[in-house]
Amino acid sequence: MTAPLPKSWIMDIAPYIPGRSTGEGDVPVTKLSSNENPLGTSREAADAFAAHRDDLSRYPDASAHRLREAIAAHHDLDPERVIYGTGSDELLHLVAGAYAGAGDEVIYVRYGFAVYDIAARRVGATPVVAPDSEYGTDVDAILACVNERTRIIYVANPNNPTGTYTPRSEIARLHAALPGHIMLVLDQAYAEYLEADEDDGGLELARTAANVVVTRTFSKIHGLAAERIGWGYGPVEAIAAMHRIRAPFCCTTAGQEAAIAALGAADFITASRDENARWRAWFSDEIAKLGNAGLRAVPSKANFVLVLFEGALSAEAAYHALMQRGFIVRWVPGQGLPQGLRMTIGTEAETRGLIAALREVVEA
Ligand SMILES: *Cc1c(COP(=O)(O)O)cnc(C)c1O
Repeated sequence: MTAPLPKSWIMDIAPYIPGRSTGEGDVPVTKLSSNENPLGTSREAADAFAAHRDDLSRYPDASAHRLREAIAAHHDLDPERVIYGTGSDELLHLVAGAYAGAGDEVIYVRYGFAVYDIAARRVGATPVVAPDSEYGTDVDAILACVNERTRIIYVANPNNPTGTYTPRSEIARLHAALPGHIMLVLDQAYAEYLEADEDDGGLELARTAANVVVTRTFSKIHGLAAERIGWGYGPVEAIAAMHRIRAPFCCTTAGQEAAIAALGAADFITASRDENARWRAWFSDEIAKLGNAGLRAVPSKANFVLVLFEGALSAEAAYHALMQRGFIVRWVPGQGLPQGLRMTIGTEAETRGLIAALREVVEA
């Protein structure tokens, strides 16, 4: 019997492993494995979502008109050049679908976001991994990988799972050195966690350059991960190409309305950013105190911290021991970091609890 065969390159894709949400025993769990907002979502977004329970039989607005207008007004953009998708994950795939295929190369940085590899391989392109610098993005290393087959470069800023940040000057230098045929995708999933003076200039580049697409999401600081709303901005031609291959009804009605309301929830956004900065700093200091046990925090500008285990206690052992104590973090061997645990910054109570558990594990 013969059976249908998937395309030859599909089974080479390593499946995406989502953050775990259930523990190993009966211990109640605190999920710190998916970089979700520990404050939930804003009152404004929750109310807007709830107002749409009677619209379930109707298809959503396929053009996301109100959502595009709201995003454009919020960021001073042209609504015609705003694209949206089922999470920014879909947008990352759309760029690959529009610009890369068999024989083409797609560059991302070692310890980059797992979806870049999947997006490249899905379309039959060859992923090219540029070496990192201290777990962060190395512009010169990326440029050294560029050749005439390069079609796309994905850079997350801040990066996931490392939390590292690439300053505006380095993003500008990378863009300036690229040949015009290469699309630079700046993934700003965590941009809202940056302070105003840390803007990496991505949206400004996307406003003017012919080869820059920025992606954003409502899943992280806005706390709408369940609704799967992402958006992107880029040149007219790129947006037109991406529209042709996206799912027509990619964003639900309630999701679009919740996202619009989320943009207006300024107090919630500020509180989320401030709380995160405060507990990320405290958490990183506490990890530094465990330095003699071989623990080290990679400096982070996001809502999570990558903790490296370079002593007798391995990341894998710590991962399971934390799980037994009710804390689910993310062990990331699949991304080349068997020595790392990525830990989302939770509420004060969750963060204090995580550090207390980690201390117990280190001392045991
Ligand atoms: C979480 C994340 C995304 C996408 O999330 P969506 O929920 O699909 O919008 C994209 N890029 C990075 C780096 C992320 O961490």
